Amino acid sequence: MPLDIVQIPVLNDNYVYLAHDPATGATGVVDPAVHEPVLAELRKRGWTLTHILNTHHHPDHVGGNLALKEATGCQIVGPQADADRIPGIDVALKDGETWRLGKEEARIFDVPGHTKGHIAFWFANSNALFCGDTLFSLGCGRLFEGTPSQMWASLSKLGALPDDTRVYCAHEYTESNARFAVTVEPDNAVLTARYAAIRAARAKGEPTVPSLLGEEKATNPFLRPMSANLRATLGLADADDVAVFAETRRRKDSFRG
Ligand SMILES: [Zn+2]
Repeated sequence: MPLDIVQIPVLNDNYVYLAHDPATGATGVVDPAVHEPVLAELRKRGWTLTHILNTHHHPDHVGGNLALKEATGCQIVGPQADADRIPGIDVALKDGETWRLGKEEARIFDVPGHTKGHIAFWFANSNALFCGDTLFSLGCGRLFEGTPSQMWASLSKLGALPDDTRVYCAHEYTESNARFAVTVEPDNAVLTARYAAIRAARAKGEPTVPSLLGEEKATNPFLRPMSANLRATLGLADADDVAVFAETRRRKDSFRG
């Protein structure tokens, strides 16, 4: 039975997610930046928190860990490669492992680049990918602790998942990401149409997350270093994919649009 997934907007632009296995009642919270809105949503739904799923160590992803653990006695799972920076961690996960929330199975991917240790949780039966700050809707995380080649390898792993995978990223950055994307791939008609739909959704205050991985593959420049239009814009027609990805990331870092 697929997970029930609830999106909780917190802080300026973070998304925290509840994931509830209806078969067993097991309930996880993904990257709880804060604890109070999570406890309020749990109360409203009558769900009991059993797990915290952390993708990486940044405070806007683990800030609610200890208060939630104290309030509920839940177990905390997170990246083995950064276990010493995940408050209260009980279970350290690494690439290729399987982990279960109730009866729902997640495959774990190591996706370093944004931080040294960063994992993603793929619940295949629910078509759900929790990818933290690695892959965003029309963007990717900044390279704070990793290299372009690490991040490209990480994004390539996620890009290999099925097109109907819903991408539950941790921030509502889509509109500003889209403003940049159309400057580097101006001839991508699918991207242009998506940008218009995103502006319309945001004007009404609607979330643009989750997106579908298939639409990310068609429009997200950070998954498209093979695009001839992107390469032409960057002046890198014959470069390798890592060099194209690195230049795209570098331009986004200084983009003011
Ligand atoms: Zn982060």
